[in-house]
Amino acid sequence: MHTVDYIIVGQGLAGSAVAVQLLNRGRKILVIDDAIHNSSSRVAAGLFNPVTGKKMVKTWMADMLFPYLHDFYKQEETRAEEKFFFPMPLYRPFLSIEEQNEWMARSAEPAYAGYIETIFSAPAFAQVRDPFGGLLLKQCGYLSTTRYVNAIKKRIEDGGMIWNEHLDEQSLQVEDDAVTYKNVQAKKIIYCSGVDASRWFNWLPIRPLKGETILVKAPFRENIIVNRGVYFVPGLNPGEWRVGATYNFHDHDPGITAGAKVELEEKLTELMDLPYEWKSQEWGTRPTTPDRRPILGAHPEHPSVIIFNGLGTKGVSLTPYFSEVLVRWMENGISLNKLVDIDRYKSVYWTSPK
Ligand SMILES: Cc1cc2nc3c(=O)[nH]c(=O)nc-3n(C[C@H](O)[C@H](O)[C@H](O)COP(=O)(O)OP(=O)(O)OC[C@H]3O[C@@H](n4cnc5c(N)ncnc54)[C@H](O)[C@@H]3O)c2cc1C
Repeated sequence: MHTVDYIIVGQGLAGSAVAVQLLNRGRKILVIDDAIHNSSSRVAAGLFNPVTGKKMVKTWMADMLFPYLHDFYKQEETRAEEKFFFPMPLYRPFLSIEEQNEWMARSAEPAYAGYIETIFSAPAFAQVRDPFGGLLLKQCGYLSTTRYVNAIKKRIEDGGMIWNEHLDEQSLQVEDDAVTYKNVQAKKIIYCSGVDASRWFNWLPIRPLKGETILVKAPFRENIIVNRGVYFVPGLNPGEWRVGATYNFHDHDPGITAGAKVELEEKLTELMDLPYEWKSQEWGTRPTTPDRRPILGAHPEHPSVIIFNGLGTKGVSLTPYFSEVLVRWMENGISLNKLVDIDRYKSVYWTSPK
């Protein structure tokens, strides 16, 4: 029998971040991942942006999450000797003169001081439709998620074990203080399995939210991300840009759709004033929760079965910080913030099978 400290199921953004935290602490891990091509983490544009939504407000816990994510990804880049983290200003055109005035006033608020690079009260970028100017934000950028996940996979291969397979639940035995999977024993098993929430956690309200993006070739000259209605983010190759995303709770079918292509191209034309050539289209499914907060903690009846899920639309900014929260809870007994603790769903959704 082989012994490790933890088994991690899934190596998307969630499993990768947990693996990093555990390897940093010298823990022995086995990661099991079936690496399906359309996992949310592999199709994400990788954007991180502290001011989001139609109303453009500072995102939940931005002051904690953003400094943390910059340090986390930079450290992993240095370790991997590979580039996958791209901090870059993000431009949000104003929709009206009223919005411009609101932001002029808001710029004096200390809460926004660390995030505003410049407020433009007139058109600032020739290839962007911004008649009322816009907001240039800092602490933004994008993560090349596939390169990052591949780099962490390499780190796991070097410092732990990784099996490329679908976890066979029949081969898993669970006790209160240990789990055994095939010939490997561990203290705990951590499910970071996205929308495929496993038999232990299928009672949780993790709602699949399908999203599609398109990749276009366009002669955009600025070194910025543009985001209003859709985002326009650099792709892997020079001259390529990812445009996204759609949000569809009702479509559970695998695959891309013609409707999403039309929607994204319309929104792209509203945002940008430049020619483009359509190259390809991607789809994936985000694991969302009703309160838009992640889910961390142990199964109600099996303390050795842990979950880190519900990253929704913001896996890039949430996983670095909350993977440390999870590991500190498991290793040092530091209580979980009630807003992310699985306990908040137990009383509503859990019924014991006994
Ligand atoms: C179109 C689209 C665009 C997005 N854009 C952004 C963005 O710009 N910025 C942002 O922050 N977020 C974005 N997201 C959201 C982001 O992708 C998610 O928040 C994040 O990827 C979720 O990561 P995860 O690790 O929880 O899940 P996943 O990425 O789904 O990873 C789960 C992994 O577990 C594996 N797995 C599952 N079950 C098993 C099993 N039984 N055995 C073995 N392996 C298993 C899967 O194969 C997969 O590799 C986007 C999502 C989509 C779909």
